[in-house]
Amino acid sequence: MDRGHGLNILVDIGKTHVKNTGKISSVRLIVQKYGGTSVGSVDRIKAVAQKVYASHRSGVKTVVTLSAMGGETNRLIQLASQFHDDPNPRELDALLSTGEQVSISLLCMALQNLGVEARSYTGHQVRISTDSAFGKARIESIDAEHIQEDLDSGLVVVVAGFQGVDERDNITTLGRGGSDTTAVALASVLNADECQIFTDVDGVYTTDPRIVPDARRLSEITFEEMIEMASQGSKVLQIRAVEFAGKYNVPLRVMSSFVDGPGTLITLEDEDYMEKPVVSGIAFNRDEAKLTVRGIPDQPGVAAKVLVPISEANIEIDVIVQNVAKDNSADITFTLNKNDLRRAESILKGIANDLGAKEVSADGKIAKVSIVGVGMRSHAGVAAKMFACLASEGINIQLITTSEIKIAVIIEERYLELAVRALHTEYNLENSTAF
Ligand code: ASP
Ligand code: MG
Repeated sequence: MDRGHGLNILVDIGKTHVKNTGKISSVRLIVQKYGGTSVGSVDRIKAVAQKVYASHRSGVKTVVTLSAMGGETNRLIQLASQFHDDPNPRELDALLSTGEQVSISLLCMALQNLGVEARSYTGHQVRISTDSAFGKARIESIDAEHIQEDLDSGLVVVVAGFQGVDERDNITTLGRGGSDTTAVALASVLNADECQIFTDVDGVYTTDPRIVPDARRLSEITFEEMIEMASQGSKVLQIRAVEFAGKYNVPLRVMSSFVDGPGTLITLEDEDYMEKPVVSGIAFNRDEAKLTVRGIPDQPGVAAKVLVPISEANIEIDVIVQNVAKDNSADITFTLNKNDLRRAESILKGIANDLGAKEVSADGKIAKVSIVGVGMRSHAGVAAKMFACLASEGINIQLITTSEIKIAVIIEERYLELAVRALHTEYNLENSTAF
């Protein structure tokens, strides 16, 4: 899991920060981000232009970040794959960054048709400086000078999401869904009052409404909860964007670009978290798989022997469990993305002898279900209640992992929906009015 680094943001943050001019208006500046479906066609781009226009007209300085038109990034990846299974990362980033260049210029044209002066910028033109990790670059600094000048002269500024440029002017991309991170980073450096993420859902829900039709939109959720939800499988926001927003305390609002509404506000936890419901939401992930190495000697260094080759192969792992049997042999089980299962399995089978392992077994038919809530901190027995609920549905728990505000279990994939529904009811999430 890609955690803990945060973004080493904005070394020159002091220079680019907007000074509060002391104007009476409470909202001075917002950053709006529109995702791929929101700019998926000419008509939708025109509709986005109307929303941007409305914000601009109300006197708010408005910066817009866009994704590529829906499906475009996948199309480009598919094109590249016709040349190479594993295309050169520098060239792939140069290719993928073009999708956003199309959407930003089209939106500016749409705004100009409405009589709004608007100017588009690629990552390079702004100068969004990143490291050189192609395909997963991190923003290091943003030079917001041009943006600032344009805003001061009454323009709407439209910035390409998902891209930056490294020290040597190579184009980089920030990882799939990376426009969210661009938006938050811009909001942070411009000291925006809010970063609004417009998407195809109207907020963050207690769980996926496709599984639980009674799932409820949360009016607020904390950064911490949102990070857990995102890292446990909720795909509403890119996890790095939420981490970044939390670190720099950028109020983040997820809202629909199709229906008007308040969306979900993601902010710092307030004082009265003791009053919060124990569980705010249920996240799940069908993409996990499980590998078990059985019968290895229970000695110092075996866990490293199993896991080092996996991490050297750049395979991310999630839950890890080790058990020691009476005969002093150990089993290590861990979960990873399904796409990496075969590769990891063959790595471990290759070194099984060396490890002294009796068996390596793989299981691609698992899923992870997590309950998340800051209210857990002040309540005992949350795990017991969750396990009892799953037991009453006859669902076997294979692995368990917890944090202060999350309990996650690995179960058989075919029970996933049943588990999510049962837990949603157990914690009364359809009726809860808190938040
Ligand atoms: N267009 C990029 C992607 O599809 C970035 C984004 O949408 O945020 O991943
Ligand atoms: Mg996206």
